[in-house]
Amino acid sequence: MDKFRPRNATQGDAFLHLSAMAPFSGDGNLYRAFGHVIAASHGAVLLAPVQIVKGDLTAVLDGCPVPWEEVDAVLSAELDDAMPFSLDGAAGYGEALRRLAAITPDKWVAGQIALSPIGGAVWVLRHPCGLRFAATSDVLFCDHEIDRGMFFDTCLKCGVEV
Ligand SMILES: [Zn+2]
Repeated sequence: MDKFRPRNATQGDAFLHLSAMAPFSGDGNLYRAFGHVIAASHGAVLLAPVQIVKGDLTAVLDGCPVPWEEVDAVLSAELDDAMPFSLDGAAGYGEALRRLAAITPDKWVAGQIALSPIGGAVWVLRHPCGLRFAATSDVLFCDHEIDRGMFFDTCLKCGVEV
């Protein structure tokens, strides 16, 4: 079985297959550092605790694809003011959030952190199973590609009417 079952996370048998993380990698590699499997692409990083990951870990590279300070900031973010962030019916969300919704749409919370004094804010989405996704807002939300219809203009990428 390779299906991610977040609803059983509290029962300790939730897991996430490496193949579900691969699309989040910009360079095609998954990395292991800080007790997490890490997939990074431009403006986004997905972090999964090693203990919830299933798959061939020998294919995972030792190391961190982004500056460790950024990973530390995402992992240690307390997100005190985090809000529930449903990925159900994710119209208007970017490709990464649609992929995240395919893993699990429920129980996410989201908040913003500042990565550095000069860097902008990034969004951190956190799931009770320990999965975290951090990204800049241009990654989170669809840059609509408009298809002009007779009655409605729709986005070719996310399907939302705009
Ligand atoms: Zn769109």
